[in-house]
Amino acid sequence: MFRNFKVVPKIIFGKGSFAQLEDILSYKRKNPESYIVFLIDHAFEDTNFKNRVPLKNNDILIWTNTNTEPKTHYIDQLVQDIKKNKDMLPDGIIGIGGGSTMDIAKAVSLMLTNLGSSEDYQGWDIIKNPAIYHVGIPTLSGTGAEASRTAILTGPQKKLGINSDYTVFDQIVLDPDLTEGAPKDQHFYTGMDCYIHCVEALTGTYLNAFSQGYGEKAMELCQNVFLLNPKEAADELMIASYFGGMSIAYSQVGVCHALSYGLSFGLGVKHGIGNCIAFDYLEEFYPKGVAEFRKMQEIAKVEIPRGITKDVDNDILEKMITVALGLEPLWENALGKDWKKKMPKERIKELYLKM
Ligand code: NAD
Ligand code: ZN
Repeated sequence: MFRNFKVVPKIIFGKGSFAQLEDILSYKRKNPESYIVFLIDHAFEDTNFKNRVPLKNNDILIWTNTNTEPKTHYIDQLVQDIKKNKDMLPDGIIGIGGGSTMDIAKAVSLMLTNLGSSEDYQGWDIIKNPAIYHVGIPTLSGTGAEASRTAILTGPQKKLGINSDYTVFDQIVLDPDLTEGAPKDQHFYTGMDCYIHCVEALTGTYLNAFSQGYGEKAMELCQNVFLLNPKEAADELMIASYFGGMSIAYSQVGVCHALSYGLSFGLGVKHGIGNCIAFDYLEEFYPKGVAEFRKMQEIAKVEIPRGITKDVDNDILEKMITVALGLEPLWENALGKDWKKKMPKERIKELYLKM
């Protein structure tokens, strides 16, 4: 079966394009009493960014806590707070931030119209009702969350996305200016998420011309940004992120992402940095990619943490292995249909213990 996937219907790109948000939203505001919810990464709370947000009288601004990756109980809390505050649903949910805040916005827009807890919807196509109109505005480039049909959440049992056609943003605003203030390390970790998406898609068994087309261009842009540091790096990385997202939408990620999910579930390591930690030990699977990644790291002068599994509790290690092994399509993409023979539990354990 060929995947019949939904893409973001409206995209605006360019430095300064954020200023057009007011105009875009004016068509979505139903009446003077209705309201829009802005979910904005708390990194902007003590800056003058708020003055640039087109807030109207009844709108709600919530600073998102992204100290940890989004949890299902956090989403449920946000939804409850919004519903408690107002007796009607909002006209829109606007997520402004990195992958975490964009996923929070997607999940909140879905959970306002679907009953129960967000943990009930972790999986594929469980969502029943369309979401509230939702807009994604990245302030970090790399995750591809602006393009994808998933909102990745950590629940009590698993780290797994709410995957559905309704998850996809109705509109994205790609303004590279918004990424300029990101800390150097975070810029690198999130940028490497995109680079690793490309490596895993382009070397995977699921590769096809669609995924290759987007993946190769995204890879070229990442190489340009991280090896040559061009003047237009912010523009290039933002497009790389979107293209990388489109590439994996029609293929899949691989070994590094499977291991990174386990690191994040067991040890709370965030996605970008977790990928960097894991990728460094995957030379046997991705020799060219890992060599180039090390060169990029050297140029960026960013440290990758080591020894994070040194004192790991055995139960937690077991959970990490279970989470990693549960991501079957990722392994199949990376290693082929007989991946289970190539990747027994012990081998994953060995890899984790090196990190
Ligand atoms: P993030 O959103 O977790 O943010 C990382 C840190 O950077 C936070 O402390 C945040 O406050 C700060 N920050 C963000 N923008 C900033 C800016 N412009 N200036 C200063 N600080 C800024 O980081 P991320 O790497 O973009 O996202 C990781 C998350 O994305 C994970 O939760 C991961 O699961 C998710 N993800 C989702 C998808 C998807 O398709 N939905 C794909 C990959 C990753
Ligand atoms: Zn990723």
